[in-house]
Amino acid sequence: MEGPLTGEGRAEHQGQVVGQALWTWRAGPAGGPATVFDLDGVLSDAASRQYLLRGPRPDWDAFFAASGEDPLIEEVSVLLGLLSSELKVVLLTARPAQARDLTIAWLGRHDLRWDLLVMRSHGDRRPARQFKQEAVRALRAHGVDPRLCFEDDLRNVEMFRREGVPCVYVHSGYYD
Ligand SMILES: [Mg+2]
Repeated sequence: MEGPLTGEGRAEHQGQVVGQALWTWRAGPAGGPATVFDLDGVLSDAASRQYLLRGPRPDWDAFFAASGEDPLIEEVSVLLGLLSSELKVVLLTARPAQARDLTIAWLGRHDLRWDLLVMRSHGDRRPARQFKQEAVRALRAHGVDPRLCFEDDLRNVEMFRREGVPCVYVHSGYYD
């Protein structure tokens, strides 16, 4: 973990470095069957900041820094709330660890249920599908059993399916 963690995220939640990822458990580590949700384009409507990625030099820092203002994607968030409380909710996002506190604050503002937030460590420039593939394997190694995923990037959808996890494709339009 690099860079200071400040604000409400730090006080309430301890981060744990797993491989190249930063894991944050909401209420301590716990295994069992889980559903896995992407954030951008699945729970979080990132449409208003897509312009930051257009052109020859995408501004990823500004893109993620603006994520705290995203509207919620209502259908997916309602579905999340309807899931059995026995299922763990894993939020697996390619957002970097620097966006952790604003992400946790955003989840709180929208009253979203979650158990584990998995983010990229600072400086991880691998393709998202590689980061997420490693995360699926690490989840299993930690006793968390991903039963179903929700994703808006078809490259990640295919990866989840190859890893043996059924994946619902959510159309965001960001990857057309
Ligand atoms: Mg996404």
